[in-house]
Amino acid sequence: MTTPSATDLLEQTAFLSPVWARYSDILVERGEGVYLYDVEGRRYLDFTCGIGVTNTGHCHPRVVAAIREQAGLLLHGQANIVYHRPMLELVAELRTIAPLELDSFFFSNSGAEAVEGAIKLARQATGRSDVIAFEGGFHGRTAGALALTSSKGKYRHAVAPLPAGVHFAPYAACFHCAVARAAGADPSFISGAAPDDAGCCGNPLRQIEHILHTQTTPEDVAAVLVEPVLGEGGYIVPPASFLQGLRRLCDRYGILLIVDEVQSGFGRTGRFFAIEHFGVIPDIMTVAKGIASGLPLSGIIARRVIMERWQPGSHGGTYGGNAVACAAAVATIRAMREERMVENAARQGALLKAELLRLKAQVPSIGDVRGLGLMIGVELRTAEGMPDAALAKRVVAECRTRGLLLLTCGPYDNVIRFIPPLVVEEDQIRDAVRIFEDALAS
Ligand code: PMP
Repeated sequence: MTTPSATDLLEQTAFLSPVWARYSDILVERGEGVYLYDVEGRRYLDFTCGIGVTNTGHCHPRVVAAIREQAGLLLHGQANIVYHRPMLELVAELRTIAPLELDSFFFSNSGAEAVEGAIKLARQATGRSDVIAFEGGFHGRTAGALALTSSKGKYRHAVAPLPAGVHFAPYAACFHCAVARAAGADPSFISGAAPDDAGCCGNPLRQIEHILHTQTTPEDVAAVLVEPVLGEGGYIVPPASFLQGLRRLCDRYGILLIVDEVQSGFGRTGRFFAIEHFGVIPDIMTVAKGIASGLPLSGIIARRVIMERWQPGSHGGTYGGNAVACAAAVATIRAMREERMVENAARQGALLKAELLRLKAQVPSIGDVRGLGLMIGVELRTAEGMPDAALAKRVVAECRTRGLLLLTCGPYDNVIRFIPPLVVEEDQIRDAVRIFEDALAS
């Protein structure tokens, strides 16, 4: 049989479900570090990381070697039937990076599954039904996760009914907060809020308290589910006082605090987990994406006293904690630690943010530059200050033709996100900013 040509293969895309809205016609062949290469050998600087997944870079040699070795030993060992070495090694590695208080682990395949599991866990552990989630939050697209998601209204369009019991509260999005602006908040606080900032106006917390006593009652609320940095909702960093206030509120009412680290975890923000920036210990954490450098794996990390109340057999799936995926995760964490990738993310992230803030000072259509580590968003606006999705789309397309891959996010798709692999180097950051600057100018 002859190998189909690239043109033949691209014809097959007509048979792919249109539910995948395509960004481009790039037929990628291989990835290495910060670059993707298409079948014609064209090179792209990948500042998307497959949506925050390939944190160790594409095909990190140590991760590839671990996958190869494990594939020759055992592909699958179902977690209800046998233990296998990679899963237990992964637990040992995670215990060295997760908050010490969270000492019990469960594995599944995707972020959505982890979030669904975390909610089931919180409900069974507390005997309560309701969940507080956030406006602009994203937790996945399966029915249960979607019920908790509001980053774009269209995700929820025409798929009702979704599971009930979810109340949406405002996230501390200071750049968009009229109260913060009217109070004359320091622009450096509005723009990319420093995580140790004590300046939150407290308004979102007051509104959550109100929701707790009007739309439900605190005694019915099992969990507050929050992203420590809002991801799909627009790369928004809340002030530390917001997350610290949520912790206090949960403690007051016996509500569990679930932190969704699916996008922000595994070094992305310059710490292993974003919540570390804020000095808050959650009760439950969900992780996925960066954990295994591209193999499907997710996890729930929780306090043992909570996990013990999860009724055996009430959750799980065939592939959860797959042996090859776990081996990739072990190699991922070891490579991150030994090659100091998290430190590099903090260092290169500071450079990237400074460069983008420099552009902001020159380009009026850049409304805001914000983020932590290598999780940085650039918000584009019209001359009237309205979200400019059309411009963002054009800039992303212009960058692609110049060899830089970027993605948008936010309810209006007017925030361009920069999420390169954590192994990115200074020259590559400068190349990306130069391409972005050219694309904006064009
Ligand atoms: N939570 C967060 C914070 C996410 O960013 C995502 C994916 N973008 C998910 C959950 C869902 O993960 P998955 O796509 O693996 O189901």
